Amino acid sequence: FNQKFTTALPIIEKIQAAGFEAYFVGGCVRDALLNKEINDVDIATSAFPAEVKKIFPKTIDVGIEHGTVMVLSKDDSYEVTTFRTESTYQDFRRPDQVVFVRSLEEDLKRRDFTVNALAMDQEGQVIDYFDGVNDLKRGLIKAVGSPEERFFEDALRMMRGVRFVSQLDFIMDNETENAIHKHHALLENIAVERIQVEFMKLLLGRGRQKALKAFIQTELYRYCPGLSLYKNELESFAALEGRIPTRLAAWTMLLFMLKKSEDEVETFLREWKCSKKELQRVKTAYIALQQRIKEPLNRLFLYQSGYEIALEVEYMLPFFNRESDTAYLEELNASLPIKSKHEIVVSGHDLLQQFDAKPGKWLGEALDKIETAILLGEVANERVQLINWADSHLEKNRGN
Ligand code: ATP
Ligand code: MG
Repeated sequence: FNQKFTTALPIIEKIQAAGFEAYFVGGCVRDALLNKEINDVDIATSAFPAEVKKIFPKTIDVGIEHGTVMVLSKDDSYEVTTFRTESTYQDFRRPDQVVFVRSLEEDLKRRDFTVNALAMDQEGQVIDYFDGVNDLKRGLIKAVGSPEERFFEDALRMMRGVRFVSQLDFIMDNETENAIHKHHALLENIAVERIQVEFMKLLLGRGRQKALKAFIQTELYRYCPGLSLYKNELESFAALEGRIPTRLAAWTMLLFMLKKSEDEVETFLREWKCSKKELQRVKTAYIALQQRIKEPLNRLFLYQSGYEIALEVEYMLPFFNRESDTAYLEELNASLPIKSKHEIVVSGHDLLQQFDAKPGKWLGEALDKIETAILLGEVANERVQLINWADSHLEKNRGN
């Protein structure tokens, strides 16, 4: 038994003592059987949400309309979800109705892939109605039941399919892949945010190359922001060897392979619903990567990118058949007289006093010039020297 299961066992036992069934289900069972690290332990039960709440003193209604109650134990929390079926999907995404049921089999039937439709009881016995264990052994992603129907019910499952191919380094069952190809256009109905989650997991997985090929072959890419006209570029991206380490690297390398212009970067990431912060970081990394492919970064470039991002860019180089040189970067970083504007020892206020001037646009520009001069080693970051340098190099009394 995995440690995470052991600590969750009392939850299952309590539900059973109250006269209901309860099992570990979904991704945690799959990952345990693969000897992989388990993310969250999910529990499914025949008890209805109100019944679950009666059993445990501390619960939170996290998604009670879907049957999920969060149970708080000593130091952990567990999602306990009532067995349910989902019926009458009308918009290819969410079920119109969730029906609570008392049968585990019914619950497992509505799950996406056979390897995700496994349950485990308190003794560690695996309950496997759809030959999921066999598919785990074979490394196969296969829809539960009729793939076409399953993708009609919820089109996101098509993206989840290629995501699991990458994450688990599995292959896709033929019939399942054909159904995705046939119905790829249904992806249009899915919110970009949800597609992004799956796409990112795809890019970061061990089987990325294989999964990207399936993503292209099934034409799912045509319904993703900014990708529809880039089949060849995506194929080149799929050909890159190696495991992508971070989200930042994934977006940056993707943009690089798509040969997007700096202006297009912002639109692209906005369409993918990236946060403003991520957008800024990726843009910075993208500019630095383009430069770094040409030649080692100089002081100004390193300063503008920041050490952390420059280091990430260094780790992207082997994908493009270039060697990374982190020692060089570390040395260059250590030699920077300042790491950010905040470290400059004179302030705007100091300049105003010194020149007896009024604030204005000139002040920001003056500080920029001082910053560059310090970085180029033209003047030391020292009060008296900076004031003297400003005195002789900057136009004064602009504000008067
Ligand atoms: P991860 O390691 O990424 O958490 P996971 O398999 O746990 O993988 P989740 O998205 O956390 O994936 O979902 C938990 C379980 O719920 C899945 O294993 C699957 O059984 C079921 N599931 C999730 N999303 C869907 C869906 N869109 N359609 C059918 N079943 C789903
Ligand atoms: Mg999960």
